[in-house]
Amino acid sequence: MFVEELISRLREMYPGGYFHVNRDPYYMLISTVLSQRTRDEVTIPATRRLFEEFDTPQKMAEASVDEIQSLIMDVGFYRVKAQRIIDISRIILRDYRGVVPDSMNELLKLPGVGRKTANCVLGYAYEQDVIAVDTHVHRISNRLGLVKTSDPDETEKELEKVLPKYAWKEINGLMVLFGQSVCRPVGPKCEECIMGDICPKII
Ligand code: SF4
Repeated sequence: MFVEELISRLREMYPGGYFHVNRDPYYMLISTVLSQRTRDEVTIPATRRLFEEFDTPQKMAEASVDEIQSLIMDVGFYRVKAQRIIDISRIILRDYRGVVPDSMNELLKLPGVGRKTANCVLGYAYEQDVIAVDTHVHRISNRLGLVKTSDPDETEKELEKVLPKYAWKEINGLMVLFGQSVCRPVGPKCEECIMGDICPKII
């Protein structure tokens, strides 16, 4: 079957999947907020710098906006994100006893948290069967003809219908790696792609 062949080729290409150094729910949540509209090469070191100074919701909630801004300045929308990180940390302390919630409904109540961020926390940190759809997953799923959608939320719904459940939580990691190196947003390397013979190349 096409979809199973596709997953098997991606797994073969990236046997370790997408390696997250830290799968702690709070770390995952804050790093995913920082990653919004920012490249991984910027997000990963910024998250590391931030957590070297403030590694718990308590410490983050007590930090000043200036302190946080100075650690994440190279991240897109860093001023907004600095305030959000403080707000999120305060809410987690006040409403969830310092523990990041493990349900979509509760995560969506946090400022700046949409379905993609919530699904990254649920999938990577809490190991739930969810599909985190970022720009890579949305673009590649459409190019491969798995879905025909115009936004990531719709892609998530459609992928749930076509992807076998065993692949839900790993597809994000596999497609992020694939999208960074081969099926790039601009200039996809179709001529050297392992999907070349089965991909309709809907670009
Ligand atoms: S053949 Fe081209 S469009 Fe299709 S998955 Fe590969 S790089 Fe992407």
